[in-house]
Amino acid sequence: MGYSIAVLKGDGIGPDVVDCTIGVLNKVAAEHGTVFEYNEGLIGGIAIDETGVPLPGDTIEICKKSDAVLLGAVGGAVGGSRWDNPDGSLRPEAGLLGIRKELGLFANLRPAVIYPALKDASPLRSGIVGDGIDILVVRELTGGIYFGEKFTCDDYAYDTMKYSAMEVERIARVAFEAAMKRNKKVTSVDKANVLDVSRFWRKIIIDVSREYPEVELLHMYVDNAAMQLIKDPHQFDVIVTGNMFGDILSDEAAMITGSIGMLASASLAEGTMGLFEPVHGSAPDIAGKDIANPIATILSSAMMLRYSLGMPAAADDIEKAVARVLEEGYRTADIAKKGERTVGTVQMGEAIKKFL
Ligand code: NAD
Repeated sequence: MGYSIAVLKGDGIGPDVVDCTIGVLNKVAAEHGTVFEYNEGLIGGIAIDETGVPLPGDTIEICKKSDAVLLGAVGGAVGGSRWDNPDGSLRPEAGLLGIRKELGLFANLRPAVIYPALKDASPLRSGIVGDGIDILVVRELTGGIYFGEKFTCDDYAYDTMKYSAMEVERIARVAFEAAMKRNKKVTSVDKANVLDVSRFWRKIIIDVSREYPEVELLHMYVDNAAMQLIKDPHQFDVIVTGNMFGDILSDEAAMITGSIGMLASASLAEGTMGLFEPVHGSAPDIAGKDIANPIATILSSAMMLRYSLGMPAAADDIEKAVARVLEEGYRTADIAKKGERTVGTVQMGEAIKKFL
């Protein structure tokens, strides 16, 4: 028994943070009596260099044959990389869009967590942050206005926001299931005072909520949600919303934590397949220097254990070990205050392993 994990390290700090995460995964596997088999595939700029395309067929096959996908990051330096070209399809980022489509990833989960030890990093006042914040934004990823019918002529242009009952139902289930594993509260964000599609969204969300009587359901207009995230983030547990509103609110929620190197994400397909990656990019400025913060990727691997591999206790262990190293004062440069002693990528991984 064991699990196979497709590993796509990608570019820049991708290999730094993924290698470190694999060390943590191996330790947690041993402690939980299982083994992980890693199948490496190329994606992004390195795939262009070696095969001519950002997402080779082999990589797609490796991912589809695995139980889950762990990804580092793709892309070169902003405004001047050797992969810049006028044909967008050959850019490293096209690999990311391609793999999301190939795997049918329709739900994007982004936790926005402020650890008590890092609460000073938040741009919000300490009175608002309190002892920390823990919100999960669940965004529908493959429908809505980004994928509806579009048209442009000289006099006008339009995009169409459309959701089917099936699309709303399945994202609602992801949100309610996640809430059952957390604090049992879902806030559905829409614009039902203006949009038909939002009134439809709301009706389906209410229908699905009947299957989860333990979960409290609230509805909020998106403009109010944008304000409430800043004013009183503690009122949220799970936020579920459509593609465009989720795009905006997940970035807003992420920024209230103040630490890009700490933000994990999961993208889920039907069943148990998922792709897990840090929110940050390839950070070419610090690649290969052993200074990148590996915590975003390590926390993404904890999401992989929870959502794809059915190992919630192992996921808890990783999250607790991360909280512990922060309490003990371990800091990579990006989360250190002026004058604080810092550790490198490898040392941070070792510290997390020690506290597992
Ligand atoms: P970035 O997230 O790579 O870097 C922004 C800043 O944050 C940089 O100063 C970087 O050093 C720092 N940073 C990021 N992650 C860090 C970490 N783990 N530890 C310490 N510091 C960290 O964003 P960018 O500079 O706008 O983009 C660089 C490349 O990454 C571009 O090619 C972009 O297209 C790509 N990108 C990829 C993804 C992805 O793979 N999902 C996401 C965003 C950007």
